[in-house]
Amino acid sequence: MKNYDLLIIGGGPAGITLTKNIKNKRDIGIMRPEDHSMIYCAMPYVIEDLLPYEKTLKTDSIVTDTGADLIRDLAVDINFENKTVKTAKGDQYDYNELIIATGADPILPPIAGTELDGVMTFKSEDDLKKILDTVNSGVENVSVVGAGAIGIELAQALNEKGIKTNLIDMMPTVLPNMLDPEIAEAAEKELKELGINLYLDQRVVELKGDSALEAVMLDNEEEIASELVVFAVGMKPNVDFLKDSDLEIAADGILVNDKMETNIEDVYAAGDCVQFESGITDEVISGKLATNAVAMGRVLAANLLDGNRSYKGFYNGAATKVGKFYVGGTGLTEKLAAEKYEIVTAQSEFKTAFPIMPFAKDVKLKLIVNKADRRVLGGQIISGEPVTDKVDKITMTVQYGLNVDQLLDFNYSAQPYQSFYPAHNLLVKAAEEAVKKLDS
Ligand SMILES: Cc1cc2nc3c(=O)[nH]c(=O)nc-3n(C[C@H](O)[C@H](O)[C@H](O)COP(=O)(O)OP(=O)(O)OC[C@H]3O[C@@H](n4cnc5c(N)ncnc54)[C@H](O)[C@@H]3O)c2cc1C
Repeated sequence: MKNYDLLIIGGGPAGITLTKNIKNKRDIGIMRPEDHSMIYCAMPYVIEDLLPYEKTLKTDSIVTDTGADLIRDLAVDINFENKTVKTAKGDQYDYNELIIATGADPILPPIAGTELDGVMTFKSEDDLKKILDTVNSGVENVSVVGAGAIGIELAQALNEKGIKTNLIDMMPTVLPNMLDPEIAEAAEKELKELGINLYLDQRVVELKGDSALEAVMLDNEEEIASELVVFAVGMKPNVDFLKDSDLEIAADGILVNDKMETNIEDVYAAGDCVQFESGITDEVISGKLATNAVAMGRVLAANLLDGNRSYKGFYNGAATKVGKFYVGGTGLTEKLAAEKYEIVTAQSEFKTAFPIMPFAKDVKLKLIVNKADRRVLGGQIISGEPVTDKVDKITMTVQYGLNVDQLLDFNYSAQPYQSFYPAHNLLVKAAEEAVKKLDS
């Protein structure tokens, strides 16, 4: 048994950020069961052969260099009164302050056949190894369920390996939490052109096979031959071992205030295991992204060093790559925004460089604007070049409450390789369009 001033349960981005930001200013133990912390975001690119598998493994020194003890174990029980944590290996650790950063696990839907060989989710090192083994064993037909960013990236990687790949989603468009249908349309077309079979507006209701998977069945009773199915349909917080405790937990995770404090004194939580609100609507919204986990970790680390920072909520800026397109979105989609606000939308469409440059590619941006106060509520972008910087610019606009009139004065830069002509900027042009609509 050992007593830690600060015990962190979880070795993902939230736990690592806490450890790195607090360093040896406190006596830290960080616990995680797996051999390696992983760069999950890069896993699809290992399957695609872009990266060797080892590149996705973080070294332990990322936390041990900070002076923290790495405890390779699984917490199975916490006694919040006595301030002790029991582990799967039968050890016990005491703490002065405890941080729960246990992340989230992929959801396997409650349908018949999930026990069959060849039914998988995609998060851990084990998952990655199994998928690589299956791919190397010469699998011919694969289905990916869930056309969010993870599903789309995985489907492209499998397709790239020459495997017949089906991508299935119950929503009518791809990336439904990131993009509105008219922006998603080009991504959908691109997936089809890549050779991926898209089944949208279709729900998987059963998995068929004797001991190994043979087919997935859709709600229209169509059966799609598949030896492997990977579900990428969402994440559930990793909090089962805390269910019978006094810790307040809601459907999407542990309840915390903006200081990341739970209802129990000296117990905090951060990352995917936490339920939190949108920074725009103040309503509960899912935000299971590494960028959110890291931001929560930073706020909490500052507060554990006597700071007084507050976490501002989820804006969910995110991006992915679909064939030749880079796409991203932030804030509220048009659909979500329209449920709460009266809105207008505006688009601008230019080139990624001066159009006279031979490599200039198309880029399109969409803004969603609140009619009442003319604030930007969200935005999306599709481009032939990387978009995260542009997504982040829209997030700043949303997060700091800028309205479209202020955007008209935005002082941007221009250069032949990197932007459209000086006369126009994507964000300003979309703001002009929005102002026109608002004033008409
Ligand atoms: C394939 C894939 C691609 C992704 N791509 C992106 C992307 O491009 N951009 C982005 O922002 N996000 C992406 N994400 C999401 C991102 O990885 C997560 O949001 C992020 O990992 C959450 O960090 P976390 O520290 O809260 O939890 P996790 O990373 O899940 O870490 C939780 C840790 O807690 C440990 N743990 C759990 N239970 C216990 C226990 N009882 N005792 C001890 N330890 C425990 C786990 O083993 C793990 O070490 C992706 C996720 C996946 C799976």
